[in-house]
Amino acid sequence: MKIVRFAVDGRARYGLLKGQTIQGIEDKPFRHLRPGDQHYPLGQVRLLAPCQPSKIIALGLNYHDHARELNSPVPDSPLTFLKPSTAVIGHGDNIVYPSSSHRVDYEGELAVVIKKPVWRVSVADALDYVLGYTCFNDVTARDLQYRDNQWTRAKGFDTFAAVGPWIETELDPANVVVETYLNGKLKQRASTSDLIYSIPEIINFISHVMTLLPGDIIATGTPSGVGPMYPGDTVEVRIKPIGTLKNFVVKNGG
Ligand code: MG
Repeated sequence: MKIVRFAVDGRARYGLLKGQTIQGIEDKPFRHLRPGDQHYPLGQVRLLAPCQPSKIIALGLNYHDHARELNSPVPDSPLTFLKPSTAVIGHGDNIVYPSSSHRVDYEGELAVVIKKPVWRVSVADALDYVLGYTCFNDVTARDLQYRDNQWTRAKGFDTFAAVGPWIETELDPANVVVETYLNGKLKQRASTSDLIYSIPEIINFISHVMTLLPGDIIATGTPSGVGPMYPGDTVEVRIKPIGTLKNFVVKNGG
């Protein structure tokens, strides 16, 4: 099942994507999915980020090949950081290049969307709390990341958390291929079978720190091949069983 969030008649609502048609659903998709009577052609609505997280928890260094690329030892526990909810954009939106950075990178990642409140869940039960999966671009001002001890600024600019195009609920997260394309050229390609910490292990770890809420996003880390983007570029994160998240890099006009 593919859950979309979209704008129609000046308001945001959720729906189920079936082929090229969206069937509206009543309320939010986190508890009971109640399909409604209204149908909308996909081409005639504007897709929005598929959820509105209270927070985004992201993983640093969670692929073996990325650790090798950086000549970095495998971390002995997951390395986490937060991205603010105000950084979220959806499919087709612009990533705004901040004037204070000269090096903004893409990081293609598989993202987990949380279904119901989670607090101290076991590894075995962790996936019961997942609504589904989506594509994520953990946009990063790399020069500022190296300059600051904390990554809040480098990871936190508005538009630096691209999410979408929708949430796929039926997916085995243990073995999907994540690809990133810049202007149509393949830049990153890895299977989640190369993850250092699996998705149940990540949820278990984070839920022993903080309560995860419906709609919260966990970005599971990026594989090797990160690199810069510039205004005018088009960046895509493709995960076949989900779809393609496409965004455009633009100059800061302000
Ligand atoms: Mg990342």
